[in-house]
Amino acid sequence: MFGFENMKISSSDAANPVINLDQGDPTAFQEYWMSMTMKERCVVVIPGWDLMSYFSDKTNVCWFLRQDLAEAIKALHRAIGNAATEERYIVVGNGSSQLCQAALFALSSLSEDKPLSIVAAVPYYSTYEEEASYVQSQLYKWEGDARTFNKPGPYIEIVTSPNNPDGTIREPVVNRGGKVIYDFAYYWPHYTPITHRQDHDIMLFTFSKIAGHAGSRIGWALVKDIEVAKKMVQYLTINSIGVSKESQIRATVILNELTKSCRIKSESFFEYGNEKVKTRWESLRWVVDKTGDTFTLPDYPQAFCNFFGKSSSTYPAFAWLGCNEDKDLESLLKEKYVLTRGGERCGSDKKYVRVNMLGPNKDFEDFLNRLLTINWALREVS
Ligand code: PMP
Repeated sequence: MFGFENMKISSSDAANPVINLDQGDPTAFQEYWMSMTMKERCVVVIPGWDLMSYFSDKTNVCWFLRQDLAEAIKALHRAIGNAATEERYIVVGNGSSQLCQAALFALSSLSEDKPLSIVAAVPYYSTYEEEASYVQSQLYKWEGDARTFNKPGPYIEIVTSPNNPDGTIREPVVNRGGKVIYDFAYYWPHYTPITHRQDHDIMLFTFSKIAGHAGSRIGWALVKDIEVAKKMVQYLTINSIGVSKESQIRATVILNELTKSCRIKSESFFEYGNEKVKTRWESLRWVVDKTGDTFTLPDYPQAFCNFFGKSSSTYPAFAWLGCNEDKDLESLLKEKYVLTRGGERCGSDKKYVRVNMLGPNKDFEDFLNRLLTINWALREVS
């Protein structure tokens, strides 16, 4: 599953273990949560007799959502200013992965025409293709690149902004009156300037990528239309009969902490996280620069961030690394035991790879060193 089971590690490479930068595991932020202050503030204790019911609030459309989590989500969005929560239903999910599938189910089952076409502009988050294809549903069908999509009839476009894998700020590209699912996993101020409050019919967020708690498997959707929200809840009811309350409680504690400290410069996760990703991007750009014209990285425009009150750039959670020559960059990196996600999986070209920027410090440093080695090896050959 992870792609390195069959790799032979020769004795000369035994000192060079595999660096897995394929998955977007966001462990880079763990050190923040291990600091003395946060270590003590974010402890959660749950007695054995508690949380035994499936239900949280039978009067709510999303009956398994805990009210304190709903309040914590709204408070955080208000404090950051990145999304409107008024007059919306909150649907909590087992990660936003489950919510994306719930939204595909909801929109397509409410549509008169089926199967509904699902598109996303290239390069797209490769999981969308898997989510839209793996059950071979008769409700919807993956149609690939939104930019070349010209099939008549209703459709759903998934818009990710900032985009995974290439970090660009995106808007819908089809614009023919179809439904749009906005995935705002990375629309948080440590990754990108918060230029305005997003206000759309379906917006997805994930606890995984805010401060790195992917293991809790919590995501949420902000949904305007009650019928869509109800259908999403129906999907979650059939799929997993709701979402773990233990996880919801932990997410509540941590989201409340993010909100409480977000304006205290010395404590704010967003200040810390911004510094962390910015420093990594600066190191990566320095190394790519050193390699002359071997590798490429996208450039991101500056924009005014309403949260930080200053102009800044985007520092995506993934690097969209390219090579100038016509090479299979994923294979090239794999030879140096660096696992990345090949561009073809994102509907793009094999001369690009997606690199996780949020892995452990040591993996990131080793990755930079190996990039330099690859560059020297390529130069010797040519
Ligand atoms: N959307 C995007 C754009 C992502 O990058 C990810 C995680 N890689 C997800 C959704 C899914 O996040 P989760 O299921 O962990 O909430």
